[in-house]
Amino acid sequence: MGPEQHRCGANGLPFGGLILNHGFSSSPFHFLLAGGMTPLLELGFSALCGLLSMKNCQAVLDDAPAIRSLMNSTATPPVRIGVSSCLLGEQVRFDGGHKKDHFLVRELGQHVEWVSVCPELEVGMGIPREAVRLIRLATNDDSHGLRMVGNKSGRDWTEDMLEFAKGRVKQLSRLDLSGYVLKSKSPSCGMERVSVYSAKGMPTKEGRGLFASVLMESLPFLPVEEEGRLNDPRLRENFIERVFAHHRWMLFRLERFTPARLVEFHSRHKFLLLAHSVKHLRKLGRVVAGESRKRLTVEAADEYAGVFFEALSVLPTVKSHVNVLQHIAGFFKDRLDTGDKMELHNSIDGYRRGVLPRLVPQTLILHHLRREKIAYIADQVYLSPNPKELVLKFHA
Ligand code: SF4
Repeated sequence: MGPEQHRCGANGLPFGGLILNHGFSSSPFHFLLAGGMTPLLELGFSALCGLLSMKNCQAVLDDAPAIRSLMNSTATPPVRIGVSSCLLGEQVRFDGGHKKDHFLVRELGQHVEWVSVCPELEVGMGIPREAVRLIRLATNDDSHGLRMVGNKSGRDWTEDMLEFAKGRVKQLSRLDLSGYVLKSKSPSCGMERVSVYSAKGMPTKEGRGLFASVLMESLPFLPVEEEGRLNDPRLRENFIERVFAHHRWMLFRLERFTPARLVEFHSRHKFLLLAHSVKHLRKLGRVVAGESRKRLTVEAADEYAGVFFEALSVLPTVKSHVNVLQHIAGFFKDRLDTGDKMELHNSIDGYRRGVLPRLVPQTLILHHLRREKIAYIADQVYLSPNPKELVLKFHA
């Protein structure tokens, strides 16, 4: 089985590539109920496999304009993500080794273009090289009192690294990155909890790598994560969602810059934002309302982006997703018959109780959208925030 193919649940259907034709053309929930379900959890997974292998599943997913536009948007320009070189398997570590991350290389790498950076190699430390660490001194300069020094020699690399980082991040800012994956714990690349040593040699996990600091301060909207945190399904889904949201924002900024387009962008993201944070959604609504009456300025767009990406960093909960799904279900209340409404209600409730994945009610909604053309709902990014292959593989 290739790396992109996965077997799922009791019926063992592959769904990593395209969907098998099993001829189920009635309601997805009917197939779900006919799926031979024993324990509740197995029901969820076999139902999901059943849904994804329906004859019309491909059409259901492809029918939403949001998906179509996303599929197009990932073609040109590409979704570009910066990455610590050693995570791609490049032998650039101090000892000539690497820290290849299989999720990044085999899975995410199929959908994005990597921009590989090894700060320590590029700053001229060489391979092999002396390992470095962070120490904190009582100074208040550009390095916030942090110094990067050789473990044995004490050679101070701080100024070299900061100067390099500023120049390299400036280059990166011109590459339209939509995200960055950093190597954890590294005194250069670590995003958080990097060991910082006191003058007496006592470590505390309170630091951030020098390159990572410059990167995150210079590009505040850029979604950034560490490889270790991406093992958590919720953080992984959130990172992928933020990356593709950033890409959509980048495309928005590339095209004609008008208040009407900001209103449209905001409108398409309303339910996604609602899942993340009601407070941020309200704030963004006020920004959009203020700008829709005048010319859209760069400052206003930046203000919107700041709140938008802050909102997406708030992790959604089951409760907030249920709230969104029920809102969307409300749009169908006069359009579906009693049986279909009950199916939808049951699937949302099954998700709320933890016996069905969220993909089940979402797929049901997409299924109904094929017949009931509700443009406002069909355009909602919430139903298809990422390319469909990533939705199928990395749904939390
Ligand atoms: S953690 Fe960063 S500096 Fe260290 S080897 Fe990896 S890419 Fe290079």
